[in-house]
Amino acid sequence: MSEVFNFCAGPAMLPKPVMAKAQEEFIHWNNTGSSVMELSHRSDVYMAMAAKAEADLRDLMAIPNNYKVLFCHGGGRGQFSAVPLNLLPPGKSADYIVNGSWSKAAAIEAKNFGEINVINIREEHSDGEISLVPSEQWPLNSDAAYVHYCPNETVDGIEINDVPNTNGIPLVADMSSTILSHEIDVSKFGVIYAGAQKNIGPSGLTIVIIREDLLGNAQKATPCIMNYETSANNDSMYNTPPTYAWYLAGLVFQWLKAFGGVKAIAKVNQLKAELLYQTIDASDFYTNTVEHQYRSKMNIPFWLKDESLNEKFLAQAEQRGLMALQGHRIVGGMRASIYNAMPIEGVQALVDFMQEFEKGNK
Ligand SMILES: *Cc1c(COP(=O)(O)O)cnc(C)c1O
Repeated sequence: MSEVFNFCAGPAMLPKPVMAKAQEEFIHWNNTGSSVMELSHRSDVYMAMAAKAEADLRDLMAIPNNYKVLFCHGGGRGQFSAVPLNLLPPGKSADYIVNGSWSKAAAIEAKNFGEINVINIREEHSDGEISLVPSEQWPLNSDAAYVHYCPNETVDGIEINDVPNTNGIPLVADMSSTILSHEIDVSKFGVIYAGAQKNIGPSGLTIVIIREDLLGNAQKATPCIMNYETSANNDSMYNTPPTYAWYLAGLVFQWLKAFGGVKAIAKVNQLKAELLYQTIDASDFYTNTVEHQYRSKMNIPFWLKDESLNEKFLAQAEQRGLMALQGHRIVGGMRASIYNAMPIEGVQALVDFMQEFEKGNK
């Protein structure tokens, strides 16, 4: 089979060297004679691997010592419940910023567990352009238990680049589709969480980074496997963690370190996004309606002006090995997800195809 570039939003492609290494040691890992997925999570070899993965992630993100890193189950949506269960005590409320479909879903789920103030910051203009209310103007409640937001809306292709100032109220960020894509200052956040299957590893693993002083306030009904304090006190091994996904995430962290770290990959991510947006903007055949400063660098939705060409576009793209470009069912059109593992060659192949397709169908 010739080379394939997979633009799926998630589960997404993983770095080729990582997949090759996993394949090489799939059956005999680390001189154990077993696969890593067949070993006890409490064995010395497994625990050493798990600790190294955490140390590498701490290194990559410069996570301060007063933060715990938890390796959890349940995906991004699991955290939509876990966050209010752990951080929203009875009698308090939380602010939920809504700028797209994931932040909206997080707010709806949180309402099951307490009082939620939904703050819609999305603005749709008469010419179709989508922009956001700048974070300085968000009407935050000064007594909220926390503020939840989604810096990169995976479906809508909307990114908030600055870290909002919440005047000391813990900031909770769903970074499922943007973690490790560019440098951030972890100390500005109370909690960062991310499902692994976009920029970390295979699905089944969720990373939670939490400031220690926020532990210990869980609602009484919090299931033990969602309780951050229980997880933290047991090094994420209160129950059996997703051991293989943890191992693969560890390989991705090693790959990213060898690449030069988050700063180095951020440069490539910037170039990839520019290449694709320039192609869209230079044509009157394709459009993207998100205001420039809020355009996502990871998930780039675009629409063919003539939507009757959608099927043809997707079929021809697939013939060229450009896979999974169909947009999310709720927004339609196309979407190219270009996470860390997507090489610039993949984006180049996509823009070459887009330009050719435009010429042939104008
Ligand atoms: C994919 C995604 C989710 C949902 O993740 P699951 O692991 O499927 O629950 C949540 N938030 C964001 C921003 C996402 O991109």
